[in-house]
Amino acid sequence: MNTTPRPKNKNILISGAGVAGPALAYWLHRHGFTPTVVESAPGVRDGGYAVDFRGEAHLTVLDRMGILADIRRERTNMGAMTYVNEAGKKISSMPADVFSGDLEILRGDLARILYERTGKDVEYVFDDSITSITEDAKGVQVTFERSAPRRFDLVVGADGLHSNVRALAFGPESRFVKGMGLYCAIFTTANHLGLDHTGQLYNTPGRLVSVYSARKNTEAKAMFYFGSPSLSYDRRDVEQQQRILAEAFAGIGWETPRLLDAMRDARDFYFDSISQVHLDRWSQGRSVLLGDAACCASPLSGMGTGLAMIGAYVLAGELAAAGGDHRVGFARYEEAMREYAKGCQKSADGVGDWMVPESRLKAWIVNQNYKLLPYVPWKGLIAKGIRKTANAITLKDYER
Ligand SMILES: Cc1cc2nc3c(=O)[nH]c(=O)nc-3n(C[C@H](O)[C@H](O)[C@H](O)COP(=O)(O)OP(=O)(O)OC[C@H]3O[C@@H](n4cnc5c(N)ncnc54)[C@H](O)[C@@H]3O)c2cc1C
Repeated sequence: MNTTPRPKNKNILISGAGVAGPALAYWLHRHGFTPTVVESAPGVRDGGYAVDFRGEAHLTVLDRMGILADIRRERTNMGAMTYVNEAGKKISSMPADVFSGDLEILRGDLARILYERTGKDVEYVFDDSITSITEDAKGVQVTFERSAPRRFDLVVGADGLHSNVRALAFGPESRFVKGMGLYCAIFTTANHLGLDHTGQLYNTPGRLVSVYSARKNTEAKAMFYFGSPSLSYDRRDVEQQQRILAEAFAGIGWETPRLLDAMRDARDFYFDSISQVHLDRWSQGRSVLLGDAACCASPLSGMGTGLAMIGAYVLAGELAAAGGDHRVGFARYEEAMREYAKGCQKSADGVGDWMVPESRLKAWIVNQNYKLLPYVPWKGLIAKGIRKTANAITLKDYER
């Protein structure tokens, strides 16, 4: 490795041990910085659906991190997904090669791999959260909910859609988070349908329920999407979120009642709005945002995790290339990533309409489209278009 340790701005605090945070910690450490990660959860959070990596840019970053083989080993290997009617009878099929990426892994497995890759070199502080960031000419004074105050040179908000660093350094969430009129819940449950590397989807107007096998069919993921105006609820109150979900899906048929029953025992219930994040700039003095905190593209884009991993690579690389000068490094990071992030966000346009059709007619049209999809000559163009967006960045080699 050619990168020399950088004396300037070495001590960097990262908020969030999801995907972007540990990926950034990996690259910062490799470039000679000393990252510390603070995570509000008591450990690395399991849960979430399967995330896709597509195209050369994504795979190059995974390869350069040395985790490509680990991800391949734990890939989901999912086949086609089937739309069913209320009786569970097949209506149409969504071919795997149209929508899956080159490599698909459960988000929780990816988070664990990233933590394992960095755990011995990076200090992780779990069960804690930043309460204030006070900047001066030489660095930042940070206070925490539990730990004693500490000084760092820089702070990175890699703490997701509802970023704490963004709220502290940039302003209230309402200015930056744009809801897309949908909510989503996902949790692990038993594979009671005996699904074999496949999944089933059932939609009624404004609602989508899906269940698909995971971890070599030993378990399943239950996933719910529903259209709703903005909801107000406590993000830490899982029971309240479960009540909202149960009400939204009351009276819906197919496997829905069984899945809603199972949700009470889920170890990893996840509930959130489907939203994007739009900010005019991603850095403010010595604080900078990364991943969903900066530019969440939403699950509808299928790009959020790749975007976070690439952002981590570029942010650490540009900081290193600038000798740790945060003004230069942050500006170059943003310059390199802006258009790319915009493209990823754009790929979510209109997806909600066909994923969760509002009317029976729209649902019928969607199903007819899926029925025809395997036979239409432009079938490959969909996957090609998504891959093009994922690949629309030229990665520098920061270690040359
Ligand atoms: C449990 C979980 C399940 C998810 N499931 C899905 C899914 O099914 N579909 C989907 O599209 N996306 C899901 N996501 C979001 C997805 O992981 C991201 O879109 C993407 O991977 C980008 O990652 P990120 O690291 O920027 O954000 P995230 O993966 O969201 O990571 C952010 C991290 O910051 C932590 N954090 C939050 N607040 C604080 C705080 N105050 N202090 C310290 N740490 C904090 C969170 O606990 C989390 O670990 C999920 C995220 C989580 C945390």
